[in-house]
Amino acid sequence: MKAFRNLFLVISFIPALISCTNRTQNYIETPVFTISWPSSSVGSWEYKLKPESKPVEIRLPVFEIDGKQTPAILSGLVATSQPATLQNGVTEYIYEGSFQSDTTLWLQVKFRVAADNPIVRFCYTLKSSGGQKLTKESGADNLVYLSYSFSDSPEAKEIRLSVFNEMVHSCNLDEIEIYEADFASSGKAVGPILLGSNGQTTFLCAYEHDSMYPDNFLEFSFAPDKTAGLRAVKGNYYAGQPVDGFSTIWFEAGGVAGDENKMAAQFRTFMLKYQSVNAESRKPYIYYNSWGRQERVKWAGGQYLTTMNLEYTLREIDRAHDMGIEFYVLDAGWFDRAGDWGVNLKNFPDGFKQIREKLEGYGMKLGVWMDPAKAALTSQAYLQNQPCIKVRDGKPDTPSLVWETEESVDMCLVSPYWEEYADILIRLYKELGISYFYLDGIGQSGCNHNGHFHGAPGNPPEECRQTYGFLLPVYLGKIMEKVCTACPDAILDFDETEARRIGVGLQFLANGRYFILNNGPYFKNFDLGESLLPNKCHNIFIQPGPARTWFMRSVLDYDKWIPSNLFLANYQPDDPENSQIINLASLVLGQNSIWGEILKTSPEGVAVFHEILEKYKQVRDDVAAASPIVSGNPGDTPEIREKINPVTGKGLVVIFSNGSGKFTYVVKNQVASSFWATPGTSVEITGGHAKISATFNEASAAIVFFGTN
Ligand SMILES: [Zn+2]
Repeated sequence: MKAFRNLFLVISFIPALISCTNRTQNYIETPVFTISWPSSSVGSWEYKLKPESKPVEIRLPVFEIDGKQTPAILSGLVATSQPATLQNGVTEYIYEGSFQSDTTLWLQVKFRVAADNPIVRFCYTLKSSGGQKLTKESGADNLVYLSYSFSDSPEAKEIRLSVFNEMVHSCNLDEIEIYEADFASSGKAVGPILLGSNGQTTFLCAYEHDSMYPDNFLEFSFAPDKTAGLRAVKGNYYAGQPVDGFSTIWFEAGGVAGDENKMAAQFRTFMLKYQSVNAESRKPYIYYNSWGRQERVKWAGGQYLTTMNLEYTLREIDRAHDMGIEFYVLDAGWFDRAGDWGVNLKNFPDGFKQIREKLEGYGMKLGVWMDPAKAALTSQAYLQNQPCIKVRDGKPDTPSLVWETEESVDMCLVSPYWEEYADILIRLYKELGISYFYLDGIGQSGCNHNGHFHGAPGNPPEECRQTYGFLLPVYLGKIMEKVCTACPDAILDFDETEARRIGVGLQFLANGRYFILNNGPYFKNFDLGESLLPNKCHNIFIQPGPARTWFMRSVLDYDKWIPSNLFLANYQPDDPENSQIINLASLVLGQNSIWGEILKTSPEGVAVFHEILEKYKQVRDDVAAASPIVSGNPGDTPEIREKINPVTGKGLVVIFSNGSGKFTYVVKNQVASSFWATPGTSVEITGGHAKISATFNEASAAIVFFGTN
């Protein structure tokens, strides 16, 4: 009933707030901003924040077509259809206009806007009836997607999303100031987010593409006239690619009256509510992944697949349910052979029948690990899709074992195989009830074949390799879109736990989420050699206690710009209780997953997980909606994190201490009147203001949930 009422509100609310268009109306207006363009000779559009701020002019793209620099200057820009309301409440507008220089050439512009958010999402598509080709006369990509001026924005900053930090062994976010000198000396910034501010208003521009810094495929380039242009660097198209149907990636632009923090909060809300139409990917469910246990079995002298069987899994599902977990995820070893992705009937003889019955009885859901490109030499996927095998310099991929299963090779996902793979996921969803797919092992560099979708005969191998690298996240996006359209509650995570993967960016997040780190750094990251433990345990931080969680929380910097529940990480369930509280206090900040040996957790420990996770579920949507307020860094005593939804006053505060002591904290947001706190923690609330006092006798954490029953 509640869902129905919300749906009704959305339907009745949005059209009243966003203007309907007639075909020639040259503006889009929301309660927050206006987009407009000239009625003729359109070479740019303007973004203007309400009520009164200076417009920002965004130039249309400049392409190289048939050897000629071709800026999009259009005769006009008219609507080709009525605005459409998408599932997430966002309205999509589509406009088209013909190039003044060549009337056989058209540019389509899509804008997506929400009624209560300043960010506009947009992309461009070329259409032609003249058989034109995109070209690279100089040998390099020649495409400027957009440009705009910083003359009113003396303060500028780049937000990098994908810097791999070996101290933490994870991608992390960096904020880099941009100086006057960067403009004067024609400097560059990878982004993908660029900010400009004059103290009163802050403007953001971003692009949706994933790569690991500094192996970037696009960049912002600055010019002495104080403009920034977003340019293709490599592989954004191949020479000779038909113009007709060429689509750009998506971009974002938007402004706020206020500073960078206000911009971050609005962008964060955009990422949570409006970027993706896949609402399930944004929900803060709680996961268990079997890999942490499989690794421990291996380190103890067994095999990764020793405990991958029906009996063990059924016992773990009971335990996961007792703890409050909602998704049970089977990692490597659940399948017969990569490519076909059937159930491993040797280990699960009933084909998941009892597992599914048990999960359904508990209201839990099933997830699985996959390496999307892999296909075993005996699989139908391999035998029937030979032209789609990943090829490097004319040689097909070399077979290797996939986690103690059959020898497999990589298929190219930027080939017709992308659709085969999407269909496999849809089959797994429909036939086995699997609704969470954890995709692992995909590097950005791979295929340089010129007969797939990332090149054509005549393109040199290096160009085909670069185009593959650019298009791989685009095609993963297409896979996710197809799967989520057919299976509305499917969730896809992409493993980002090693260097040289596809990096963290805004593209994968348009449909899915990231699995951001495993156990933090390895011995080798601290110059301690490959391993100090027997049985190839390369991980330093796998013990109970506070240390491991310092590293896991180090990636929470993302939470300022992108909700932390889009960056899954696993916390550990091991006794003693202080370690369990530290792990839970970390998990509820949004990373929301557990791995390790839950069957070895004491009954008291299981009760602690159950109690805290059930309280967390009452406020987790508020926690997901809340921008973080942080004092202290991971490893500090104390480290305090506040996540309160300012609209409801619900959410949480956690305080970490690495030893005994007493700390008080004044909650910065107004809070709801009810609360729940861990023992040793007192809370005084006066007129919506809360003061927390937490006493520690050892390394531990205090958790206060506001707004619980
Ligand atoms: Zn290929």
